Amino acid sequence: MPYFDHNATTPLSPCAREAWLRAADEAWQNPSSPYRDAARVRARLDQAREQLAQLLGCPAERLVFNSGATEGTNALFAHWARTLPSGSRVAVNPTEHPCVIEAARHYFPPERLVWLEIDGRGVVKTGPLEALLADGSTSSLQAGPISAVSVMAANNETGVLQPWREIAALCRRHRAAYHGDAAQWLGKLPASGFGEAGWITASAHKFGGPKGTGFLVLPAQAEGFRSQRGGEQERGHRAGTEDYPAIAAMVAALAEAETAKVLHETERLRWRDAFLAQLRTVLPGVRVVGDGTERLWNTVSLVMPLAENHRWVARLDKRGFQVSTGSACATGREGPSHVLAAMGFAPAEAKRVLRLSAGWETTEDDWRQLALALVETEAELRASASSDVVQA
Ligand code: PLP
Repeated sequence: MPYFDHNATTPLSPCAREAWLRAADEAWQNPSSPYRDAARVRARLDQAREQLAQLLGCPAERLVFNSGATEGTNALFAHWARTLPSGSRVAVNPTEHPCVIEAARHYFPPERLVWLEIDGRGVVKTGPLEALLADGSTSSLQAGPISAVSVMAANNETGVLQPWREIAALCRRHRAAYHGDAAQWLGKLPASGFGEAGWITASAHKFGGPKGTGFLVLPAQAEGFRSQRGGEQERGHRAGTEDYPAIAAMVAALAEAETAKVLHETERLRWRDAFLAQLRTVLPGVRVVGDGTERLWNTVSLVMPLAENHRWVARLDKRGFQVSTGSACATGREGPSHVLAAMGFAPAEAKRVLRLSAGWETTEDDWRQLALALVETEAELRASASSDVVQA
């Protein structure tokens, strides 16, 4: 069944499954226990950390294994709330994942949060951000300086890419902390640069690793960062027994993506764009969210010409295509997507948005079949709308 919801989660990749099974059989002991078998697990854990550090380009001791991006982000905002100067402010991109938006709102009062300006395609405007960083303390509102910035690498709903390298460099220049949510970028595009960017959060299940596993990259200055209290695991940064089999599987999945998959990005972009060209011919009323700016090769967010998105999702599901209305974490919440609202979409339009997200196992033919299924679904929905009118 063609699965087009990889931004919600991906299937476990065969190499991750193999790594998990091997580790669960051979290295299941607690790495903190005091005998030789446990020391061997500790050595394997260190090797996994070293391998991940090489993929990201940072020293191994800057990596903290955890349960994923939601945990990493909450821990980071709690740390910032404790350690950033009390009068300073945190600048946040309004199209962040709910784990960033909600953590920011929970740990900081409204007067300490600044919502960054974005353009109509959802890209953070770096000019106003630089001005904020340069003169936050001298603004007419006499608000405090910007001491930290959170801007994701790639958006989970629209696939829109942010200029995160440039933003990280601006933050470095102005001595502000930078957080980049790399959950949707890693495994799809090259990982290089994240190791030196600042605070980076990531999640294994978005790139073929197991769910409930992820990591946080610490910047050079992260004194006092403790995400959980208890034992001294993860150099004291995060207490709790490390899940070595899950970590081994995560690192195997990312290593495979980096060495054998991300180089196919251009070909996959071509497939996505061929799908969009086909769709525009057969369904001229469709609009692409974030059109005209760089987006992930796997993600297409569409404003459909008619009917609410959940009706499309149900009908496509019956045809064998699994697609989504937006972020899986936001499913079930009241109201339209905050991402689309921040991009200026009216609520009625946002309710017609479908998110299609492919994976490395998606074929060019899967995209073609999806386009045909969308056309057939539109005809069905149109027919049911006109029969509703006749009956009324
Ligand atoms: N950030 C982004 C951009 C995401 O897409 C997701 C998952 O949907 C998360 C964070 C949360 O990740 P996790 O499932 O590891 O908590």
